Amino acid sequence: MKSVLIHSCCAHCAAYTVDYFRRQEYEVTAFWYNPNIHPYMEHQHRLEAMQSLAQEMNLPLVITEGYDMISYFRQVVGHESQRCQYCFELRLSKTAEIAHQMGFGAITSTLLISPHQKHDLLREIGNKVVEEKGVDFMYADLRKRYSDSRHMTKGLNLYRQQYCGCVYSEWERYANIKIE
Ligand code: SF4
Repeated sequence: MKSVLIHSCCAHCAAYTVDYFRRQEYEVTAFWYNPNIHPYMEHQHRLEAMQSLAQEMNLPLVITEGYDMISYFRQVVGHESQRCQYCFELRLSKTAEIAHQMGFGAITSTLLISPHQKHDLLREIGNKVVEEKGVDFMYADLRKRYSDSRHMTKGLNLYRQQYCGCVYSEWERYANIKIE
């Protein structure tokens, strides 16, 4: 059976994405590595929501140990306006590495369901990180299903975040600004 390791940024984006790949007859495993989520307790709330969804969907979930926040900041400080590029690369390259170690055939990301993310960049970085890892990057434009995914998690009473993840995005969200 085909297998895919899905980098999962939150339960609400994961629900439809998991369902979509299952319907394509993939054996699906979710993967949690999100050192871009700040502060730490926000990270924990989103992780707990993801664990609850995994239980609900009978979904295997691989969780990286620790909290790599320092690696995230070492990548992005000095180029904050392009931080998403570094953030995608950090998370997707870890996904490719773990997929390679665990023998998965492919990787993808729940970021592909979000209309707020840069799809061309995600596709470019996804294809780059799988080079020499012996796995495929599965691109799927699921943006039209964003609200369907939220509808799927509605009754589960899961923690729902109010900003993308990093402290910069939290600042942009609440101060209604754009970091240039
Ligand atoms: S805005 Fe979101 S995708 Fe961009 S760097 Fe922050 S957490 Fe990562």
